Amino acid sequence: MDREAATLEIKARLNIVDVVGRYIELERSGRGYKGLCPFHREKTPSFHVEEENQYYYCFGCHATGDIFSFVMHMEGWDFVEALQALASEAGVVLEGASTNKVNNKLLDIMEQACQFYQQQLRGSFAEKYLKDRGITSQSVVKFRLGFAPDGWQNLATSGIKATEQEFLDCGLIQKRRSGSGYYDRFRNRLIFPIFDGFGRPVAFGARALGDDKPKYLNSPEGMLFHKKELLYGWNWAKESVRKQKTLILVEGYMDVIACHEAGINNVVATMGTALTEEQIEIFSKQTNKVILAYDADAAGQMANRRGVMMLLRYGFDILAANFPVGFDPDDVLRKLGPDSLKEAIDSAENYLNRTIRQSAANNDLSKVGSKTKFLRDIAPLINEIPSRALQEEYLHKLSEITSLSYYAVEKEVLQKTSKEYERGRSRYNNKVVSPSASDLTVDVYEEAERDFVATVFGDPSYINEAMEIGFELDWLENDGLRNILKGVLMPSDSLSVPFNRDSVELIRELAERMEKIDEKRFRDCLRKLAERHIYRQIEELSIAVTKSNESVFYFEALIELRELMIQVENLSEL
Ligand SMILES: [Zn+2]
Repeated sequence: MDREAATLEIKARLNIVDVVGRYIELERSGRGYKGLCPFHREKTPSFHVEEENQYYYCFGCHATGDIFSFVMHMEGWDFVEALQALASEAGVVLEGASTNKVNNKLLDIMEQACQFYQQQLRGSFAEKYLKDRGITSQSVVKFRLGFAPDGWQNLATSGIKATEQEFLDCGLIQKRRSGSGYYDRFRNRLIFPIFDGFGRPVAFGARALGDDKPKYLNSPEGMLFHKKELLYGWNWAKESVRKQKTLILVEGYMDVIACHEAGINNVVATMGTALTEEQIEIFSKQTNKVILAYDADAAGQMANRRGVMMLLRYGFDILAANFPVGFDPDDVLRKLGPDSLKEAIDSAENYLNRTIRQSAANNDLSKVGSKTKFLRDIAPLINEIPSRALQEEYLHKLSEITSLSYYAVEKEVLQKTSKEYERGRSRYNNKVVSPSASDLTVDVYEEAERDFVATVFGDPSYINEAMEIGFELDWLENDGLRNILKGVLMPSDSLSVPFNRDSVELIRELAERMEKIDEKRFRDCLRKLAERHIYRQIEELSIAVTKSNESVFYFEALIELRELMIQVENLSEL
């Protein structure tokens, strides 16, 4: 079945209420169902699922869509991934793209290799090593730990049905440096299969059991394995991350296993590298709270700081677990027991507060030079905070700690001008999941207002295009801009408009801006203003709906809302 037909067939076979109901609790409400919105934080349900039309809508954050967009958001999948998952659930057979066939073949080989390594573990000295380290037999099964025996050609004789090229594409064998032929990549090593979000092995991490170097050897990047886009443990973690709204970040496989043994499942490992943006995208839709569970030294290291700065930029709440110095989660579990591990994570402290405290302790703050050094150490982190209010709170705190004036601290820490700050921030606007997300978009509309008035200021005939889609003066929020536009459109009234120094400044700015605006930019700003106007109507309607208990009104309002949302979608055709 081609993609379009498959999409329709899946929608016909699956009920959105069942699919959504797997992620959040739904209760019947009027003609549909409602529950707590998974896309924004709330205490009273404003997330509605319409069974009849098979779509969802949130009155709080305006998230809307169908069965596909829902699972895409919840799982962090792209459309093709959602299509594959829902197709297999609905029993719809997809027309396999050729790359999919190749990938499926490779996945099958990885699965066979995983089983082969698991079989080899039984009775091996690697099994004894795991036992000595205190890894439970349940963990060995759950994490599918295995053993790659010594020898160069074990895979070739393992019974796995694959060509040399396929073994090579899987990263399981390597070409000989001299002469022809291949040999096994993993030899005499403990095997940790690395799973994708569906729980399929896509790579292996291999730990040397003797003195072989390197100590840890991973599958190479390839057709299946993209290290930067994968988090070890996500296949087990996603369910509980969604429920607990918290993700725990650790460094390695052993730490993930240790946490599971202590009953903590919402945990993933970055596998020894700095956190990437692709990895953040995987979990940013399920939670905005992250606990760093690195050992105390590692947490402060620069490689990890880069990841932390990215998390700050996304608006995450970041906590740091309280481990003894030199202890990672695995050490804590093995040496101090599961209760200590849980306690260390439960008592996690705000990351910024802790970093400030530790850095203050490492610098003699009675000396001016040390104060500057201290502030420069903290500055990169403060600069990433996407909320101005929170930033100011930290500046006050730093001023207190250093006994420097707020102004001096601000000057030292905030090296960017506020304009640069806005620009840097707006890149992330649509990704930030936080109640204050709407505040962040203000500057986009302010820009649109300026562009719009500048254009009409330069050529008043442009107003006709705006009138056609219902433009009125109250679409503008900036009083100064509204007055100028009034003056342009109704010159006879303009005498009553007070012109002051601010408006002269504004006109100068508009005249400059006019030069840079072309047709496309005008359409963009007009679309933005129309969009905000419609959003405001949606907002008002939402409030009215949540206050009303009458199902007739509720249903009519939903229809009206649907129309408004279609209007927003149609704006892109302007
Ligand atoms: Zn919502």
